[in-house]
Amino acid sequence: MSTAILSALPEEQSSLLQHLAHPHRVMHAGRAFWCGELHDRPVVLALSGIGKVAAATTATALIEHFGVARIVFTGVAGGVGDGVHRGDVVVAQDYVQHDMDASPLFPRWELPGYACSRLACDTALTAMLFEAANLCVTSASGLWGLKTIHGDAHRAHRGLVASGDRFVSTAHESERLRTALRDAGHDVLAVEMEGAAVAQVCHDYGLPFAAVRTISDRADDEAHGDFSQFVQTVASRYAEHMVLSFLQKL
Ligand code: SAH
Repeated sequence: MSTAILSALPEEQSSLLQHLAHPHRVMHAGRAFWCGELHDRPVVLALSGIGKVAAATTATALIEHFGVARIVFTGVAGGVGDGVHRGDVVVAQDYVQHDMDASPLFPRWELPGYACSRLACDTALTAMLFEAANLCVTSASGLWGLKTIHGDAHRAHRGLVASGDRFVSTAHESERLRTALRDAGHDVLAVEMEGAAVAQVCHDYGLPFAAVRTISDRADDEAHGDFSQFVQTVASRYAEHMVLSFLQKL
């Protein structure tokens, strides 16, 4: 059975497509899915689209139409945790939807009907992805001459990631979001727009899910410029490197 590699952005998918053996494209639900093999493993490459609904539709199509056995997400995210810098990588241990708020009917952030606010990623896949992420960051300076602004080496982190239908692009919003969640016991490392939706779909279908996000910006007032430049120069290489070494571990 196939592994779905779900990317948020075309730049990330295009570098993986170059390695795809026996590629064939299938159109479904208005989306292009690429089936083939990477390192002799059957895969389906798909674009999640941006935002939770687009990502949920793509994940559902991968499960219902393509019958994939697991979903792995690669993308970029804004770093909000202390010490989570641009060029670092965050592997999601679990997910929260930062814009879910059905209070006072349910506690803030709780997913109605799920009796919890956080959904966990698959432990085994997450451990493999974390290994691949560590390998990638430790070789990043050698491979691509990537240097950190702060002088320390790039790091792979593992922890809670928040998703919501907002590009968080001011220091004020980022701090407010992080503090409110932290006060409720949810210490968030990074913020993005799709992962929690895919985690929920995979939870519903009982499918293993793991996600890795390269930090493209700090979700602050410079986020927009940082994001565009980073995606073109760095994120696609990270995605390619991490996915290929992850697949070899499967
Ligand atoms: N400029 C893009 C839009 C990207 S939206 C375009 O032209 O199409 C940002 C994407 O990167 C989303 O997929 C989201 O998951 C992730 N992301 C990166 N930084 C983010 C941030 N600060 N806040 C929210 N999502 C972020």
